[in-house]
Amino acid sequence: MAEIESRVALVTGGARGIGRATVLRLARDGFDIAFCYQSNEAAALELEKEVTEIGVRVMSRKADVRDIELVRVLIAETEDTLGPIDAVVTAAGITRDNPLLLMKDEEWHQVLDVNLDGVYNVCRSVVFGMMKRKRGVIVNLSSVAGVYGNATQTNYSASKAGIIGFSRALAKEVGRYGIRANVVAPGFIDTDMTSVLTGKVKEKALESVPLGRLGQADEVADLVSYLVSDRAAYVTGAVVQIDGGITI
Ligand code: NAD
Repeated sequence: MAEIESRVALVTGGARGIGRATVLRLARDGFDIAFCYQSNEAAALELEKEVTEIGVRVMSRKADVRDIELVRVLIAETEDTLGPIDAVVTAAGITRDNPLLLMKDEEWHQVLDVNLDGVYNVCRSVVFGMMKRKRGVIVNLSSVAGVYGNATQTNYSASKAGIIGFSRALAKEVGRYGIRANVVAPGFIDTDMTSVLTGKVKEKALESVPLGRLGQADEVADLVSYLVSDRAAYVTGAVVQIDGGITI
């Protein structure tokens, strides 16, 4: 019997929210999984257990995506342990909302550092291996705020718009090496990130969602699963919104 080729996926921000749902979804798709988390080791170990029960290999590492040296170590360890990385999903992200007038310099820099530099650090560190192997797929998590802008989120919107420009430029650079790079731009998704919003803000936001509800992390993970699969073999440089219609 021919040996089934194993595939390896790396997910940043994997212990929680959309990253966690993506880890589980890609594990069910048959990927061996590496994921990084920022601080919650207990959640990471619990997730490792769940992934192992699905029947694929898994490893997690504490790694801050702002630190390119740590990211390089994460990628090297992943490839030593599981094999060459086929798919990368960058889900690590933060918000520090404030109107521009009140924004603190550190709120601006923190968001750009994690959301945009983090994506650079991961993609920069993984792309050479993918180019050598002439295969690979990258999915970067942006946001509808990166497409349309969102009041009180100049920092977040700028970082997420940056991810779109970055990913499209990358798609143009590496397409000829058989590598695809796409962006997922969610609207309001029910995770810890949105749980901090007050009831009033949520209510107001929901009024503009034609589907009348928050999205679920699993629904975003389904889209990521499609984009990393061969079913999306001709999709690159795309910005796919998953937002319940909030932007129409
Ligand atoms: P979340 O807050 O639940 O999870 C974010 C994850 O990123 C956490 O696991 C956190 O530990 C990790 N993280 C944060 N800083 C990090 C760092 N420096 N290094 C490594 N990991 C770090 O958020 P979520 O809702 O699951 O968001 C996932 C992605 O989707 C983010 O990029 C977010 O901007 C984007 N997004 C979310 C929504 C939403 O409504 N939830 C909407 C649009 C886009």
